[in-house]
Amino acid sequence: MNIGNLYIVATPIGNLSDITLRALETLKSVDIVAAEDTRHSRKLFNAHNIETALWAVHEHNEDAKSNALVEKLLSGKSVALISDAGTPLISDPGYRVVTRAREAGIQVYTIPGPCAAIAALSVSGLGTDRFLFVGFLAPKTSARQKQLQEFVDERATLIVYESPRRVLGLLADILEVMGADKVVCLAKELTKTYETVLSGPVDSLLEQVHANPDLQRGEFVVLISGVSKKQHDEQLVDGKTLAWVGMAQQHLPLKKACALVSEMTGVKKNLLYKAALKGKEPSGDS
Ligand code: SAM
Repeated sequence: MNIGNLYIVATPIGNLSDITLRALETLKSVDIVAAEDTRHSRKLFNAHNIETALWAVHEHNEDAKSNALVEKLLSGKSVALISDAGTPLISDPGYRVVTRAREAGIQVYTIPGPCAAIAALSVSGLGTDRFLFVGFLAPKTSARQKQLQEFVDERATLIVYESPRRVLGLLADILEVMGADKVVCLAKELTKTYETVLSGPVDSLLEQVHANPDLQRGEFVVLISGVSKKQHDEQLVDGKTLAWVGMAQQHLPLKKACALVSEMTGVKKNLLYKAALKGKEPSGDS
């Protein structure tokens, strides 16, 4: 008996017309559509007259359901996997289904389409030659600041997904960790009625969003500009500067020592801090 195919199908991120002809044909012709939230997907199905059976496969049952789906595929049924919006597996369920299907020798085909990260990047005006998708950052400020610290000298444009509840907090953390002049783009409600794309230095963006509650509602992609090669090179902490941090640290806690040396040299204090911590790590050399 022939085994079935698995199709990973991208669906709209807002505007229900943003669906490809191949996606519609696939969703209509497969035996089962595995969807994250079947009630949500029913709206898409109704809009496009799709009557295929829906199976719920979400974060909490993906482990069990992926085995059942692989059995169906092995028995000859064809399956399409969708998520609530955009491309499945991109900050969405589906990883286990795809991995298990591939392990079982099932053909996995992509039916590409919308993805909020790529849609936002394409209208942001920020660099597109290198970009780094990081999905959702930690919900709590201290953990989120630590994560942002890792990207202080990142050359690629960072793409972050964020919930409306935390968008002000995220902007405040970018300002704190990366500096007031870091250029950020806020892409809100893409493809929907209140689509808004704002960009500029994070301090003015934070002010704007703070002053306008409408800008704190909806779905957001936050893009953070990467540092240029020139900035990157200027930001490198040389041995002498690091030695000054070491000397200052004999009298001050590390953070204060970094702040002092930062004032003397103009090198950003978070870079000094990061370099000083790195200097303390045991070397991996044998
Ligand atoms: N798989 C989806 C994709 O391909 O983009 C992402 C799913 S993730 C659970 C949902 C997040 O994507 C939202 O919290 C928001 O950050 C972003 N997002 C989804 N739709 C969006 C839209 N229309 N405008 C802006 N951001 C959106």
